[in-house]
Parts: sequence; C-alpha cells; structure tokens
Amino acid sequence: MTKIRTIRQIIEPQFVMEGAGVRLRRSIAPRRENSFDPFLLFDHFAFNDPAEGPLRGFPTHPHRGIETVTYMLEGVVRHRDSLGNMGEIGPGDIQWMTSGRGILHEEMPRRGPGGAIYGFQLWVNLPARLKMSAPKYQEFNASAIPEVERNGVKVRVVAGEFFGVRGPVTEIAAEPLYAEVLIQPGVEFCQAVPQDHTVVAYVFEGRGLFANSGTDSAVGVEAVSMVDFGPGDEIRIQAGSDQPLRMMLMAGAPFNEPIVPYGPFVMNTVEEIQQALVELRNGTFVRD
Ligand code: FE
Repeated sequence: MTKIRTIRQIIEPQFVMEGAGVRLRRSIAPRRENSFDPFLLFDHFAFNDPAEGPLRGFPTHPHRGIETVTYMLEGVVRHRDSLGNMGEIGPGDIQWMTSGRGILHEEMPRRGPGGAIYGFQLWVNLPARLKMSAPKYQEFNASAIPEVERNGVKVRVVAGEFFGVRGPVTEIAAEPLYAEVLIQPGVEFCQAVPQDHTVVAYVFEGRGLFANSGTDSAVGVEAVSMVDFGPGDEIRIQAGSDQPLRMMLMAGAPFNEPIVPYGPFVMNTVEEIQQALVELRNGTFVRD
C-alpha cells in the first residue's frame, strides 16, 4: 500500500555570509548529526539589488569528500578548477562536481541581463569508500536537461527519473533525484520516491499544501522554505490556487556513516580532516 510522506519539519532559510562576502540563504548546513543524509548543504543565492554593491564570489578554495552541485536560474557563475575545467554556468545549466580526494576551484557569480543572480548550490555527501576517489566532473547545458510536462506539472530533470524521463547526471553514489518542478495553480503533483531515501523540497515561489490534501496530515507551505519529508514512498504537493509553485526537489539514499564536517571538507573522522589540512599546507592536496 502506498504511504504518503508527511512533513517532518519546515525550515526557514537563514542569511549567512560565505566566500569573499557573499550573502546567501542557507537552509541546510553540514553538521555531525547529519539529519539530511546524504544532503549536507543547500544554499540559495539571490542578488537583485544593485545597491548591494560589487559582487564578490568564492575565490580559490578546496573541497574533499563531497559533491557540489550548482544550478542557475538567472545570471552566471564563472568557474575554474584544478582539473582544468573552466567556463560559465548559466541559466538552466547544471554543474555536478565530485571532489573525491581533492579539488581546488573558484566560483565567481555575475549578474544576468536583468541585473539579477539567482541560483542554488547543493552539497551531496560521498560514502567513506569514495571520499578519496579521483575527482569527477559533469556539466550539462540547459539544452541537455530534459523538460517533461504532464497535467499541469513541469519538471526539468537533472538526475533520476520523473514521468519516465531520466536526467543527464548519472553514476552518483547517493542515487539522487534532483529536479526543478513547477506546479500550476491548484494542480496536485504526486511522485513516487524510494521508501528509505531522504526527501526535501526547496519552495522558492508560490505556496501549496504538502502531504495528503484533504486529511489532517496536510501542511501549508509558503516560499521561501525548505520542506523535510518523513518516511513513505510517495510525496504529494498541491499548488495554491493563486499562482504556480516552484521548487527544487531532491531525494537521495542515506549512507548512515558518521561525518566530520570542517569548512569545505566533509570526512568521516577528525584524523581525516587533519590530514586534509596537512596536505593543503604542504602542497600535496591535489594529486594527478
Ligand atoms: Fe566550492
């Protein structure tokens, strides 16, 4: 029998400063409790006021033990990394970077023609067996990301399968579903999700009823909020009647391993963090 997932909690994103003074809305941050296993972090960058002054970005910094996923709606992020990748992530593009044992990169946002920057960065954990694996990189242009529309629901599929359509990002340990979803006013979206996976939805426009509408379990949610789903094998979301609901939806298999986060590193033990810091100091962090 289908079990509709109820809502465990609704998280209000908090403003934080990162990089060289970039203001972000953060709803998930890496912590030892690892409550959103395999997801470690979710940041929303939204600048649209020229009065915010010159844009600062994320000058060269390392990562180890995680995957960083950048998805833009407006504006671009110029990037460059120690694997030799270089380019711009623009509206609708996806960059899925698996840092493995180590990568150094730079991420510099730039406003789009409308003067705004709007995008998301997700961090996905790597299991212990892959934390020191060779770094890997997947980047897809907007045109390579399939868009599927059914009964008033439009899904841009980055990873995993929605309505029988698979996203281009593959071979990720957490077996993620990741998609941008737009639900027309009043329409109900139902999506099967693996029973044991963590499921969260970042609502960035509109409002809706989450969980089983017409029952006591339904919960009203308004943008901007991160919704954390409880156990079950299907999610249901009904958009409010006045405007479409837009969200980033993610699901992934938890690794159930202890984690030790430290800035841009997420490892399994304190010793592994110390090792990363030693290698950064002595110049052996990035290996061929
Ligand atoms: Fe980074």
